[in-house]
Amino acid sequence: MAWNVVILGGGFGGLYTARKLEKLLPPASARVTLINDVNFMLYTPLLPGAAGGTLEPRHVVVPLREQLKSTHLKLARVTGADPSRKQVTIRSPEGEQQTLTYDQLVVTIGSTSRTLPIPGLAEHAVGFKTLSEAIALRNRLVQTLEHAESIDDDAARDSLLTYVFVGAGYAGVEGLAELQDFAADVLELYPRCRMHGVRFVLVEARDRLMPEISEGLAEFAGSELRRRGIEIRLGTTIERVSAESTELSDGELIPTRTVAWTAGVKPHPIVAELGLPLDDAGRIKVDRYCQVEGFDDVWAIGDAAAVPDPARPGQPSPPTCQHAIRQGRTVGANVAAALGEGAKKPFTYKTLGVFVDMGRYQAVAETLGIRWRGFPAWFLARSYHLLMMPGIRRRARLVADWSVGLLFGRDSSELGQLGHPPQLAAPGLSERSSGGTAPDGSGRPEDANVR
Ligand SMILES: Cc1cc2nc3c(=O)[nH]c(=O)nc-3n(C[C@H](O)[C@H](O)[C@H](O)COP(=O)(O)OP(=O)(O)OC[C@H]3O[C@@H](n4cnc5c(N)ncnc54)[C@H](O)[C@@H]3O)c2cc1C
Repeated sequence: MAWNVVILGGGFGGLYTARKLEKLLPPASARVTLINDVNFMLYTPLLPGAAGGTLEPRHVVVPLREQLKSTHLKLARVTGADPSRKQVTIRSPEGEQQTLTYDQLVVTIGSTSRTLPIPGLAEHAVGFKTLSEAIALRNRLVQTLEHAESIDDDAARDSLLTYVFVGAGYAGVEGLAELQDFAADVLELYPRCRMHGVRFVLVEARDRLMPEISEGLAEFAGSELRRRGIEIRLGTTIERVSAESTELSDGELIPTRTVAWTAGVKPHPIVAELGLPLDDAGRIKVDRYCQVEGFDDVWAIGDAAAVPDPARPGQPSPPTCQHAIRQGRTVGANVAAALGEGAKKPFTYKTLGVFVDMGRYQAVAETLGIRWRGFPAWFLARSYHLLMMPGIRRRARLVADWSVGLLFGRDSSELGQLGHPPQLAAPGLSERSSGGTAPDGSGRPEDANVR
């Protein structure tokens, strides 16, 4: 009888676990099922490129079926688990509940944005964790430029053309830098906005940027951002957010209609429903083999798990795809070992380096103890991502996007209505314009994004 292996989550951890199992397990010895809520893996390090318009949104994702050979991909949401009965419950996109049983379970369900109970934050801020959030941010930028170009009220223009990013980890810094770069590129198309100027503000509670990298490199990144006119407020938090402003802890009220929240991640909430032991931060407790405490048939990796970091004894691994990929390979080998193929091995990966791509041929990087900055770091970052992007076809798409961007600049069209087709007025007919507006001018789904 074939073994049943179930993997929850098809991101970095899940994809690399499945690929390792495909390599190690003899054909037909096991049925490996990967459960994911979408049919692709989001290559998050390139998300800022999608927000900044240097990459097509479809080119920063990896269709899972292109990467999996014998693994069975099941599109569904994980809703719970009962590890004492070796069961997982899922809900299909059509709403059908199903219970799956397993012999070995791997949990790699990732994380969500870590929010705080700040008044107005949930209602008015935009996250920067998913593809739709990145595209919403880009659309918001274009919509605010369009709106600001068409009005006479200078105060309103001020709030439309001010963009506040909260959180200066590498995701926040890269996202802000790419978006500001995009604004600088398209501003010549908006003469009134160009005269008025755009304002970008980065707010960070700690007293430095990007604790993930060394202080010298972070300072270089900071000076590059300041050189571009970006204001950096360290040791500052936001106290409240409204539709037209945000208030800082130093009392300043910044008129803005765009607050992007990039202040860290927390394990996905579904992790708490799986009946597994959790640490104080809500991550699944595992040992150095990525095996869940108290269960010899359950493994957990990636952002959702506290995998001991070989580089920093006593601390969990940082939430990065570098770690999730290597943990995926480790746990793939360990599940195979549990099924009789090979020996169990610990997770030993130590970070090789970190890149922060800031657009405009600028980046900072630290690899194997060597620091890079400026163009060499930017070139290194792009080459690294090209190498790490799974599949030659996906790599070719990245090269094509980057080359077209270099030659022709970026596209300023705003396609917020994509994926939200209007209801048909009559069979086969729509009364809406080709831009998606109703005859009375209302009703574009993205109108909600402009406040
Ligand atoms: C903007 C941004 C930039 C980043 N840049 C870098 C970088 O440059 N370098 C780096 O090393 N790391 C980077 N990271 C971090 C990196 O993305 C994560 O650490 C990594 O994705 C973690 O892998 P994972 O497998 O744990 O989770 P994920 O890759 O997030 O995968 C989890 C999967 O589970 C799915 N899922 C979630 N809930 C359910 C459910 N209930 N049912 C079914 N499926 C579900 C999700 O759709 C997803 O496919 C970045 C993150 C962000 C947000």
